[in-house]
Amino acid sequence: MKNAAAEQRKNTAPLISLEEAKRRRLLSEKDLCRMGLMPLGTPVACIKREDGTRTPYFDPAKVKEAPRDYRYPKAAPQKKEPVLPLPTGEPRRVSAKSAPAKGLFSAEVLKQMYYEPTGEPVAYYIKKSGERVMLYDRATCRRLPLPCAKCGGGVRFRQKLCRDCYREELAQKRQAGDAKRLAHYGKSRDRVLFFDLEMTGVYDHDEVLSVSIVNGRGEEVFHTLTRPERKKRWKRTEKIHGITPDMVKDAPTFAEISPTLAEILNGAEQLVAFGTSTDYSHLRRVYKTREGQKLLRQKMLDLSAEFSHYVFEHELELSHLSLSDAMAHFSLEWRGTAHSSLADTDACRRVFEQLFPHYFESEA
Ligand SMILES: [Zn+2]
Repeated sequence: MKNAAAEQRKNTAPLISLEEAKRRRLLSEKDLCRMGLMPLGTPVACIKREDGTRTPYFDPAKVKEAPRDYRYPKAAPQKKEPVLPLPTGEPRRVSAKSAPAKGLFSAEVLKQMYYEPTGEPVAYYIKKSGERVMLYDRATCRRLPLPCAKCGGGVRFRQKLCRDCYREELAQKRQAGDAKRLAHYGKSRDRVLFFDLEMTGVYDHDEVLSVSIVNGRGEEVFHTLTRPERKKRWKRTEKIHGITPDMVKDAPTFAEISPTLAEILNGAEQLVAFGTSTDYSHLRRVYKTREGQKLLRQKMLDLSAEFSHYVFEHELELSHLSLSDAMAHFSLEWRGTAHSSLADTDACRRVFEQLFPHYFESEA
């Protein structure tokens, strides 16, 4: 946000519930960041979190692709006025209803939230029975260590578990993951296909510029440029994959190659790509029926998900999980121009062979 007025609007967006935000498909800054988008206006709503801060939500119709160097404005933390005791040192009287919103809680409730008062109560409310309930400002309370969600003891380390329980769970996951990765699947190298699409952009309304498919032997099965029917230019992605409008002007359209593509996909037992969701939404268009699309979906194996499981289970120190990162991790060299469709497909196949070394072998 550039100015104070905009900041002001940000904080006065109406409060809604998380369910409401989901129903309206509103996007938080985190969502936008994940999708590489930036907001075009101020937030249309806010969600109030448990700690009293507000998370702004944006209208999905008013966003655009963010430039690479775009910095997401951190949601401005809401400054809460502290509730001070009266100048005489006496706690202030507040209503029971307004207390939580002011961050005021009784010692009993604080204990349930794993907080411990560190000073004197600053306020109180009076129960119907006439009993006085002393309240503490949570901001001045000490956070108590949370117990492990599994064994109930220890101190939380990661994923709500204590160090021992976390280790134990991770070891189990790793064992199961390794068993899956190292298994013999006896698949045919001719029927496991690796594919990559280059696109005009990252959205469903974007169009396919090239399709590359290689088999389990690394042999080219299909490779063509395609001519978009609607998009005339794609400056942003052109820098990544190098496909210019001039290069595709005489190429067939995606609709024209669809019958050939359908035939190839039908013959495959497994389709592997590094990140399949966007590719799937385009590839499924070669099928007219839901049944065909469902079958296609079932054949898809997302290598990026497999790689991230592997990284997580083996606790590898990798901050990014792109295909390039996977290549670097396995010390593989790029063949051809990185991010060209064929080079990506080749890279995908070789990373797959690292993760699933016995995929094409039968049990001895
Ligand atoms: Zn535990």
